[in-house]
Amino acid sequence: MQRFKALLASKTDAGSTIAWQELGEADLMEGDVTVRVSHSTINYKDGLALAGKAPVIRRWPMIPGIDLAGKVVSSSHAEFKAGDAVLLNGWGLGETHYGGYAQMARVKGDWLVKTPGAFSAAEAMAIGTAGYTAMLCVLALERHDVKPASGPVLVTGAAGGVGSVAIALLAKLGYQVTASTGRASEADYLKGLGATEVIDRAELAGKPRPLNRERWAGAVDAVGSNTLANALSMMKYGGTVAACGLAGGMDLPGSVAPFILRGVTLAGVDSVMAPKAARVEAWARLARDLDKAKLAAMTVTRPAADAMALAPEILAGKVRGRVVLELG
Ligand code: NDP
Repeated sequence: MQRFKALLASKTDAGSTIAWQELGEADLMEGDVTVRVSHSTINYKDGLALAGKAPVIRRWPMIPGIDLAGKVVSSSHAEFKAGDAVLLNGWGLGETHYGGYAQMARVKGDWLVKTPGAFSAAEAMAIGTAGYTAMLCVLALERHDVKPASGPVLVTGAAGGVGSVAIALLAKLGYQVTASTGRASEADYLKGLGATEVIDRAELAGKPRPLNRERWAGAVDAVGSNTLANALSMMKYGGTVAACGLAGGMDLPGSVAPFILRGVTLAGVDSVMAPKAARVEAWARLARDLDKAKLAAMTVTRPAADAMALAPEILAGKVRGRVVLELG
């Protein structure tokens, strides 16, 4: 029987433990496709799970990791056969089903997406849930008719994973992008991704007023709380904010004024339970619209063994762009 390395989080009466262990295929959970995982990544949510900061893990023991990419080893699912390059984002991976921080995974074929030919497994994980969510946000803006000609768009949490990919996508599509960041030192990096303006996130962090000067036609918000409320109050008439994140807080201390006086739309974006058709569309659009040189510029590669050390860094907002983890 094939043995493989996995990061296993366990809970006992004495508390929780997390350590790399050797497991066998028989230890894997149920599923109709077995995947040899070559790459994973660390998202904000992975940081929360690894640091035990939020109840991300809802079944014990658990292999964390909400993303994986690799090749199918065996499959009884009609859509997949041995050798297929696949990726998986969410669906409870790393929360209720053994996740991406292991060299093998057994999952439901219905959860898998065929990795677009444009991307290697490493590039698919450079995108990961953060990048796929950024694409879902851009699609939400498009669905609400926010066009490059509508006016500039705002991206918050700009130097993070969702933010970096959102800027690269929006710039390629012809939007004028304002990047909001707490890291002034990353201004050149953000301009390199395509931002035309970089603002201090403090501008959006104060107590929100019901309405402010109309500044943007749309926004991708990864921060929540005051930042989201301020972004809403600064939307142009008919604008849309695609809200996906809570890096600054889960509350929304705003007013209905932007909705009822400016016809602003708040478009919620969830990646975890997004239906397969939305995933396939998002990945096809990533293959078309994401500049791979920019993807490379926002990505660092680390061994999976570094995942625990990276968790506090991503939670502290110190990780720039995206991190690929190599499972080896
Ligand atoms: P990152 O940590 O890579 O990026 C978050 C960024 O937010 C940071 O880099 C920082 O950007 C900014 N930030 C951090 N803390 C604060 C703060 N206290 N106040 C204001 N800004 C802050 O995380 P990801 O990009 O992976 O995820 C971003 C958010 O989106 C997370 O909340 C995550 O849970 C959520 N998310 C949701 C998904 C969904 O399905 N809805 C899917 C994927 C992510 P800067 O330094 O530039 O200011």
